[in-house]
Amino acid sequence: MATSIREFVMNQPLFCSHNHHEAFDTFVKDGPGYDFRTLLSYANADFITAAGARPSTEGDEAARFAALWPKVRATGHGQATVMTCRELFGLEYAPENFSKITEELQSLIRSRPVEQLYDHLLREKANTRWVVNDGFTHEDSPAANTSEQYPGYYSFTWRMDALFSMVDGRPVEALERTTGTSIHSLDDLGDAVNETISRFKAAVRLAAFKVKMGYERDLSVGNPTRHEAEAAFNAIRYRKAFYGGIQQESGAVSAREGRPLGDYLFHCLLERAHDEDLPVQVHSGCPGINWGSIDGANASHLLPIFDRYRRVRFCILHASWPWTSELGAIAKNYPNVYPDMSWAWNLNPAGSERALSEWLDGIPFNKIFAYGADTGWPWCDVGNAMQARIGVARVLEQKIEAGYYSPATAEEVAEAIMLRNGEELLGVSSKEV
Ligand SMILES: [Zn+2]
Repeated sequence: MATSIREFVMNQPLFCSHNHHEAFDTFVKDGPGYDFRTLLSYANADFITAAGARPSTEGDEAARFAALWPKVRATGHGQATVMTCRELFGLEYAPENFSKITEELQSLIRSRPVEQLYDHLLREKANTRWVVNDGFTHEDSPAANTSEQYPGYYSFTWRMDALFSMVDGRPVEALERTTGTSIHSLDDLGDAVNETISRFKAAVRLAAFKVKMGYERDLSVGNPTRHEAEAAFNAIRYRKAFYGGIQQESGAVSAREGRPLGDYLFHCLLERAHDEDLPVQVHSGCPGINWGSIDGANASHLLPIFDRYRRVRFCILHASWPWTSELGAIAKNYPNVYPDMSWAWNLNPAGSERALSEWLDGIPFNKIFAYGADTGWPWCDVGNAMQARIGVARVLEQKIEAGYYSPATAEEVAEAIMLRNGEELLGVSSKEV
């Protein structure tokens, strides 16, 4: 008997395009400190929102947390937390259970060696076949986490956002420490960046470059001349000299004056992505922190970049929510743009369903990535995967019900957007482990 599309989706292994899991040694070190709050992942921001413009200072932190949770539990982040807790511990995520949840979590952490714990949560519980992990690749430790620190089905992104919004010399100094070189010129700086990429690539399975600069600056990237970038570099690097009549150690230049250097380095990164045929993942849309810039991270700002680097593949993360329709139009027209729903189901399940439904009507389905857990703790993947599966299933059910898809087409689409597209883009299918 044929299974329903819902059943098919619920059992379909996942490609997780974006996560922030800790390396084994860090996890082991931090593990004893993890409590019920780690099940929340990015829901922390919803607590701040729920508390409003003049947050209460009454009672202790635990009491305030317990008072706000009932309001947060209904958001997408809250829903994922509830599902993780039910699935793993058979408990409602509620104040009366918080200490019990911490006990259960700690006993889960101690139940098996860390490698097996990751497998248990990622493979058995979330049914994830591959993970692309972003993070802990700071300029001071570009290869701190080697592949031995993660399961074999993890690959990694290289990221150094500080390069794109430089207003003082700290990122340059960090690169000097990392590479053991002196950076006296714009060319030296480009060489040092490339050296850290090469070292990272030698240490881990490199899947993509990651750009999260939308947290620090807008995604509009200009076309500075080399001269303009050099002038910014000199002002930043040699701040002992008076610049514009002022000498000051910190904040060597303004954001406007530093921008040509940031934009120039962004182009350098894309040239490397082009030469190595590496995908570039870009954070877009709503940030994971309160008070962050929303409009600056609209993926539409990147249109000139998509147009210029036509042979570079851009994975636009988080569905650019709330600009999901715009991203759909972009991905329909630009063959090098791949819309990616990592974290989007958490941010807004209803908006994500609408987005996926629209995208499937506009974009060939081989271009869409339907899942990325985007969390720091492997147990959160359990609820996040479930949330994504519910959304994907509902969208495909509607397509069948409307008469647009046959059940066989819906299954083919599900398998592609949930697994195969990721395997193909990031070239892991030949590296089965
Ligand atoms: Zn993320």
